[in-house]
Amino acid sequence: MVARCKCGLVWNISIKAQVPKDGYKCPWCRGINKKATEDTDQSGPKQHSK
Ligand SMILES: [Zn+2]
Repeated sequence: MVARCKCGLVWNISIKAQVPKDGYKCPWCRGINKKATEDTDQSGPKQHSK
């Protein structure tokens, strides 16, 4: 299945993956949250949009 993050990216996740009710947060966003949000590098992951 796929999940759309708040950042707009769509990620392939396991069908067994648990998506929080408040919305899926992609690993990239989680990574950003772990780091300083002051880092404005918006390079991001490469996603294929269908
Ligand atoms: Zn995200």
